[in-house]
Order: sequence, then structure tokens, then C-alpha cells
Amino acid sequence: MDRRTLISLFAAVLAGRFGTRSLAAEAGRDVVKRPVIIIGAGLAGLAAGRELQEQGQDVLILEARDRVGGRLWTSQKWKDVPLDLGATWIHGVTENPLTELAEEAEAQRIETSYDRNIVYDSNGQEQTKELEERLEQLRSKVRQALKSAQNADQDASIRDVIDTLQRQLPVNEITRQLLNFVISGEIEQEYAGSARRLSSHWYDSAKSFGGEDVLFAKGFQVIVDLLSEGLTIRTGQVVKQIDWSSSPVRIITNQGEYAADQVLVTLPLGVLKAGSVEFKPQLPHKKTSALSHLEMGILNKCYLRFSKVFWPDDIDWLEYIPSKHGAWTEWVSFARAANQPILLGFNAADRGREIEAWTDREIVVSAMQTLRIMFGNAIPEPVDFQITRWASDPFAFGSYSFNPVGSHPRMRCHLAQPLGERLYFAGEATEQEYFGTAHGAYMSGVRAAEEMMS
Ligand SMILES: Cc1cc2nc3c(=O)[nH]c(=O)nc-3n(C[C@H](O)[C@H](O)[C@H](O)COP(=O)(O)OP(=O)(O)OC[C@H]3O[C@@H](n4cnc5c(N)ncnc54)[C@H](O)[C@@H]3O)c2cc1C
Repeated sequence: MDRRTLISLFAAVLAGRFGTRSLAAEAGRDVVKRPVIIIGAGLAGLAAGRELQEQGQDVLILEARDRVGGRLWTSQKWKDVPLDLGATWIHGVTENPLTELAEEAEAQRIETSYDRNIVYDSNGQEQTKELEERLEQLRSKVRQALKSAQNADQDASIRDVIDTLQRQLPVNEITRQLLNFVISGEIEQEYAGSARRLSSHWYDSAKSFGGEDVLFAKGFQVIVDLLSEGLTIRTGQVVKQIDWSSSPVRIITNQGEYAADQVLVTLPLGVLKAGSVEFKPQLPHKKTSALSHLEMGILNKCYLRFSKVFWPDDIDWLEYIPSKHGAWTEWVSFARAANQPILLGFNAADRGREIEAWTDREIVVSAMQTLRIMFGNAIPEPVDFQITRWASDPFAFGSYSFNPVGSHPRMRCHLAQPLGERLYFAGEATEQEYFGTAHGAYMSGVRAAEEMMS
């Protein structure tokens, strides 16, 4: 065989392997080929990468951001206090796989408790015994109403269930405020979905771990660092297209082209729903249907740092009953847990989305107005702040997924199902039993790695 024939034969083999339409080849660039490529260096992607690498697989992770961790994001802006802008807590330490990782990382953890809390009414007064009892009665009515709704044939939104309940109660402003406080504090802050959208049948279909909630003294970054150790991760690679029509799967990013025999997609539900990544061919109906039915919720954070602590320093949670639904309902104090004059205010669901359009200044002014109602006009201005906007984040489009009316938990299994032994899926939204959490994301990554190895 002469040299020219050999070259054309080699070219033909390459064309067969990578297809004839390779953009990189057309542009004279190299296609980077690996047996396994993982898209997304969040907790799911890192978990899968670590598992696969431990089994001797050659893994490459492509990440759009210039950092690793995704919705685990510890800010180092305040050098002396690393703070989490994404997930904060290991929710329920008992048998939680993140506990094992935290042990491995020898990470210092701090327990916080919902029992160490104070509730303030809309005038900023600490709740009286009478208000506490009234609130407890309403909570129990809400629980009962939701329980009955879960047994009803027809699904209804949590808001519809509460509206029906409200019609049976004395009509007054206080009852409305208290009901909204219960929905916001106990449901919307946890599931991040709006009560108008959350399915009463399925909103709490997730399982949970027992034990206390702990946060990391140095932030969730310790887990990101542990899992990424030794992994090959290319950041700044915004995936635009995944062509899984044949093997190898081809991935086009803003920087180049990649090919792999197996590809694990850990893109957030928000990114998949937005259609920012084109799948060729389109994903099958079961997956697109799951994508259109499941939704991303919003939980936004506003950290305020003060020169001194002016609130009770022995509690973890400050709760406020606002006149406007969802406005600054929940606050975490870092005074006891981290000995720092820092408050973290949350806005979830509709309210969380609404404030993303505000300027930082407007958000801080609004937060301070609430704190002045609670602690008086003499409190100092914050010395600094940190604010999140997860709904507008193009690599998340939301905080975490929830089950709205019209969805079903099995849709998460549809999202998780591999395609043609070459395209695999992980990420918190693919986890039927522990969706919306960091441990759910981790477990989904481990599950996908097992699927890929089998
Ligand atoms: C404000 C907030 C608070 C939370 N609090 C808690 C908590 O206290 N406890 C808890 O258990 N959970 C909490 N969670 C949920 C938890 O953070 C998530 O469930 C988990 O981190 C999701 O991990 P993941 O790997 O599925 O997704 P991600 O971490 O989002 O990873 C996906 C990765 O894909 C990347 N990506 C996106 N688009 C592209 C693209 N086109 N090309 C390449 N890469 C792309 C992203 O940048 C990201 O790194 C919270 C989340 C938020 C936002």
C-alpha cells in the first residue's frame, strides 16, 4: 500500500469515527476524544467523575463556568468568613452520604437548629404566647388540609388548598398574614417553588435523612475540593450541542469539539428547560415531557455584614411575619454558629424571582427596612453585603427543582434514563427520592457512574 492510499484510508477511518460533519475538522481544529466526558462540574458531575476515575476510567469534565462546584459555591469575598451562596446545609446528617465525605475531608461542621428561633410579628414584636398558639393552630389546619388534598383524586396547587382553607376561617388580615407566613416559611423556603405552582400531591414526595442539619465552617467548598482532586476539568467550556445520533457522541462547546463513547449530562433542569443546549437528535418524548412538567424553584440569599451583633446572639433562626407574602420571612444568624455579626436573609419562590430585577442597593434597603421594624431605627447600616440571583444565572436558571401541579415523581426517572448506552443523565432533578438537595445531586452522580460502568 503506498503512502497516499494509507493516508486516505486513515482519513476514511477518522471520518467514520468522528463523522463527516465535524465542525472542528472543517475549521482545522482537533477534536478532543476521551472514553468518558461529563458535562457539568457540579456535585453530580464531580461525584460521577470520582467514581469513574476510581474504577480506572479516563474521564474529562467540561464546565461552562470559570469555577467548579455549580450550585455549591462558597464565596471567599470576606476572607475571614467563607460563605455559601448556593447550598449551605447537610440536611439530616444520619446516613447522609455527604456526612461520609465531610468526615473524609475532615471538615469542621456546625449544627444549627430550627428550635433555636424567634418569631417576630409584622410590627416587629416578638410573638406573644397568644400569637404562638394561634400560629400553631393554623399550622395544624394547614397540615390537615394538605393531607386531605394528598388523598384527593384531583391534584391542586398548595395555594388553591390554602385558599379553600382560608374561606373556612374568620376573614381578617392577621389570618391572611399568618397563613402566608406558614406557606412561605415552611413550604416555599424549603421547596423553592411558588405555592401557586407546587403540587399538593407531590410537593413533599422526597425522602429525608434523620439527624440534625449542619453547615461547613469553611463552606461547602471543602466537599468540592475533595471531589475534584485528581480530576481533569476544563472550565470555560459552554456546551452548545450534543450530537448523540451515533457513537462516539460529539459535543460542541464555545471553545471546540469533543467526542466520547459515553457522555454524562449533569446540566441543571433550568438549563435543559431553557433549551440552551441542542440535542441531536432531539431527546425522546418522555424526557421532553418531564422537562416541560418539572420546574425550577428560586431561593435567593442576601448576606448582610454588620459592625456588631444587635439581635439576640444565642439563636439560629429569626422569623418575620411580613405583611407582604414571602418578604424576608426567614433569617439565619451567624452570631452563635460562627461568632460573626452576619445575617442571612432569604427570599424564595415568586418573591425570590421578583427581587432579582432590583439593584443591590434596593435589595439591601428593603432588607434593612425589615430589620428596622424588628430591631428599631438605631441599628447600624451593614458594612457590606453579598446577594445571589439564581433565576437569572444562565448556567442554572433557578435554585433547585420542585414538583408542580401536573408533574409526577416518576418523571424524574424519565429524566435519569440513559439513551442508547452512550448518553447518561444525572443532577439533582434526576433524583426521584432526594431531588432538590446536595445529597440528591451526589447520589445521582454515583448512580449514573454505576450505570456507565455496567
Ligand atoms: C441558594 C441555594 C441554596 C441551597 N441550599 C441547599 C442546602 O442547604 N442543602 C442542600 O442539600 N441543597 C441545597 N441546595 C441545592 C443544591 O445546591 C443542589 O441540588 C446541588 O448543588 C445541585 O448539583 P448538580 O450537580 O445537580 O447541579 P449543578 O451544581 O448546577 O451542576 C451543574 C453544572 O453544569 C454547569 N453547566 C450549566 N450549563 C452548562 C453548559 N451549557 N455547558 C457546560 N456546563 C454547564 C453548571 O455551571 C454547573 O457547574 C441549594 C441550592 C441553592 C441554589
